[in-house]
Amino acid sequence: MRSAFDAIVVGAGPAGSVTALHLARRGVRVLLVDRCDFPREKACGDGLTPRSVDILRALGIACACSGPPVVGIRLWDLRDGSRTGHGFRATARGTTHGLVVSRDVLDDQICAGARAAGATFWPHTTVMAPLRRDDGAVCGIEARRDGRTIAVRAPITLVADGAIGRLGRELRGRADSGSDLELAVRQYARGVSTIDRFEFFLPLVVERRVIPGYGWVFPAGDRVNIGAAFYDPTPVRTPNMLRRVYAEFLRGLRDIPRFSALEATSPLIGAPLRVGLDPPRCAGEGWTLVGDAAGVVNPFTGEGIAYALESGELAAAAAWEALSQGHESASHGYRRGLTRRYPPTWPSVACCRV
Ligand SMILES: Cc1cc2nc3c(=O)[nH]c(=O)nc-3n(C[C@H](O)[C@H](O)[C@H](O)COP(=O)(O)OP(=O)(O)OC[C@H]3O[C@@H](n4cnc5c(N)ncnc54)[C@H](O)[C@@H]3O)c2cc1C
Repeated sequence: MRSAFDAIVVGAGPAGSVTALHLARRGVRVLLVDRCDFPREKACGDGLTPRSVDILRALGIACACSGPPVVGIRLWDLRDGSRTGHGFRATARGTTHGLVVSRDVLDDQICAGARAAGATFWPHTTVMAPLRRDDGAVCGIEARRDGRTIAVRAPITLVADGAIGRLGRELRGRADSGSDLELAVRQYARGVSTIDRFEFFLPLVVERRVIPGYGWVFPAGDRVNIGAAFYDPTPVRTPNMLRRVYAEFLRGLRDIPRFSALEATSPLIGAPLRVGLDPPRCAGEGWTLVGDAAGVVNPFTGEGIAYALESGELAAAAAWEALSQGHESASHGYRRGLTRRYPPTWPSVACCRV
């Protein structure tokens, strides 16, 4: 029997929703599933660089078309409070500003964009495993929905289940190494007078050891988004380590007069980011990995949203090409697209920082 869908997209974060949006706009019958419904909270700095703003505006995502502009970056030295910075240069489309948009709003709007383009969206659907043919090729998903286990088949499955999603883990086919994951935490706070830049802070120090990473304060309307991202240099990643690094960062931050009155207004939440993009491992027979699942995160900055959006577009183009030519492997086109787009130095940068 012919499947009701040409493609299944797992995960409706920026990567998955934009993949579904591009596929649906090309007339592909696409099913988008997520274990959550939207809007939902996601640990993030909420920072959209001009690169992200460009892509989102071109897609017609409303939250990227207004809001107080973030005009550049400022880098602070936590040891003496000195700083340097620069304004953003114009992108190819002429965008010269970033934005801060909380992820409950951003992800909901991209997902709504996918639905408006014709994608079918199933919330509260947790994917448990890929379905495989006898030759090992992926031909759909097994998922839990409405208390039942269901199987859904499609020629191509695009996996955007985030940094540590179970489907991505199975398809990558190897355990994570120390350099694959960066850790990040964030919370909201008040008590900072108006800022119009992405403020970054170095170095992060715990027990006199410099930790590879940075802290940030991003303007978010009448509050700020404050957080820290770093590679955990200890072999065992512990929640305690996260809290210690963050607490030390806050102590240093409050020594700078402009940030001395910071007062947290939300709990501290965190999540890992997957770095170390390796294009050959990002696709196989019947499947592709997109966004964080593929490690398409800038290892210098931890920026992931622009790359989630870009990899979604590349994956959708490769899947559409494969489907329209009547074969089920989008892997070659997608790997080629990733290799052309992103620097081959990314994986080694991630290794060097551990
Ligand atoms: C604290 C922190 C701060 C950050 N700050 C920034 C920033 O300021 N700017 C920036 O550009 N990037 C930032 N990033 C990175 C950015 O958040 C990610 O790169 C981005 O979310 C990747 O999008 P994604 O769609 O690949 O994954 P996600 O956004 O993680 O989405 C994955 C989706 O998959 C769903 N899912 C997972 N497993 C399953 C399953 N089994 N079945 C069904 N659904 C499933 C999840 O519910 C989720 O909706 C930050 C990350 C962290 C952790």
